[in-house]
Amino acid sequence: MWLRQLSLRPKWWIDNNSKMTQERTYQHTPIALIGGGLTTQVLALSLVHSGFDFIWFLGPQDSQAETKDTRTTTIHHAGKMMLDALGIWTSLQEPTCPITQIAVAGTPQDTDNNKGWPLCWEQADPPMAWVVSNQDLKTACKTETNIQLSKQKIQLVSIETMTIGQPNFLLDSTGKSWSCDLVIACDGANSLLRKQAGFTVIDQSRNETALVTSVQTERPIGTIAYQRFLPSGPLALMPISTKTASIVWSLPNSEAEALTRQDKNSFEDTLNAAFGNYLGRLTQASTLLTWPLKPHFCPRISKPGFILAGDAGHALHPLAGMGFNLALADVAILLDCLQNGACSGLTPSHASVAAAYRSRRKLEILALTFATQGLNRLLTRKPGPLYQMACKGMSVLGQLPAKRLLSDLAMGGKLASAPLLSGKLRRSDSR
Ligand SMILES: Cc1cc2nc3c(=O)[nH]c(=O)nc-3n(C[C@H](O)[C@H](O)[C@H](O)COP(=O)(O)OP(=O)(O)OC[C@H]3O[C@@H](n4cnc5c(N)ncnc54)[C@H](O)[C@@H]3O)c2cc1C
Repeated sequence: MWLRQLSLRPKWWIDNNSKMTQERTYQHTPIALIGGGLTTQVLALSLVHSGFDFIWFLGPQDSQAETKDTRTTTIHHAGKMMLDALGIWTSLQEPTCPITQIAVAGTPQDTDNNKGWPLCWEQADPPMAWVVSNQDLKTACKTETNIQLSKQKIQLVSIETMTIGQPNFLLDSTGKSWSCDLVIACDGANSLLRKQAGFTVIDQSRNETALVTSVQTERPIGTIAYQRFLPSGPLALMPISTKTASIVWSLPNSEAEALTRQDKNSFEDTLNAAFGNYLGRLTQASTLLTWPLKPHFCPRISKPGFILAGDAGHALHPLAGMGFNLALADVAILLDCLQNGACSGLTPSHASVAAAYRSRRKLEILALTFATQGLNRLLTRKPGPLYQMACKGMSVLGQLPAKRLLSDLAMGGKLASAPLLSGKLRRSDSR
């Protein structure tokens, strides 16, 4: 690994902050990767396989044994190919469940009496997506990063301050100073680095909370993902196994909070009334978790020497299960931009790399942001007639040949393309 000691003084050297007032030496790295979530794990593996030199800063909280994340993540076909190429997919220990059909409707009345689901599409070979246990995915990523990354590449410290320049300067939580040509910030939805870089955030919150749990279904759910757009909010059931499903139910904060106060039987009654009897009785099978929803996006996700990826740049409403998939596409495209830049003799911090990444991410991020926000606003919390009209629209769409597009979008890799999204990893031994 290439490290060098610099003796430079960034702008904040003269700040009042006592940590910064002493003369410092700066350890240098070409790329600083910041964050400890799934986006950073996948990016770290992509960079190491491609021969890029970097240091990964992950807060101490990310290296400790975490509380078990009982959520599942739906990973689209393109994302699966990418995780396969990086060795993560084969490191998964628990069974994954394919999704070959997606069925969408409004209230249970829409699907009563064998009317079927008004909007339903299918794609079995290959499946559109896969449902994976979050905990298993995190463990598989950690297993692979432990194998592929040398210890010197990983710093178990969070970053407290960043000054953007040429180079950028970072101050970590132990008071150590770093300089780097490129900062890649994957520090999540509340990104501190995004704030310090002065990037604008468009907040799209609607005071919603997602309730997450798993259920046993009385009749087999098979490989079908169900989505109900209920007047109070979207309710998704993702298959985990033949008779087990994962639930993400987004509700106004007050309604979600009231449900968390119910006992198990009352909660099940409310859930069954909301989903209907299509799969027989649903029985709660794991603890009920809550996630406050704060969807947002940043109109700008890069500038020379500074790049946002994952939830730091965009957090989607979970109704389509696409947030992490969008982050995977960030990683694949960023890697392609860095590799293309390197082939043309450009450094990772070159303005053209940042511009290429920004322009190649624009379409998919905007499309998915507006699709998820649009559906949520169009189909939930509407008075009677408007809601009925919106549900009619679903049946109309269900009759159109254009619904083939929906399978294409659900499989990923259509609004964004890069070799890694097709499972191709361009390797390079040293850079
Ligand atoms: C209920 C729910 C269900 C979902 N279901 C799906 C799904 O089915 N499919 C899908 O594709 N997506 C889904 N998502 C979205 C997905 O979970 C997120 O998009 C993804 O986890 C984001 O990962 P991330 O690494 O970008 O951010 P995070 O997981 O937030 O990670 C950020 C990391 O940065 C670290 N950090 C923060 N500040 C610093 C600092 N200063 N220095 C160092 N480290 C720092 C944090 O400790 C953390 O580890 C769902 C989301 C929710 C809420």
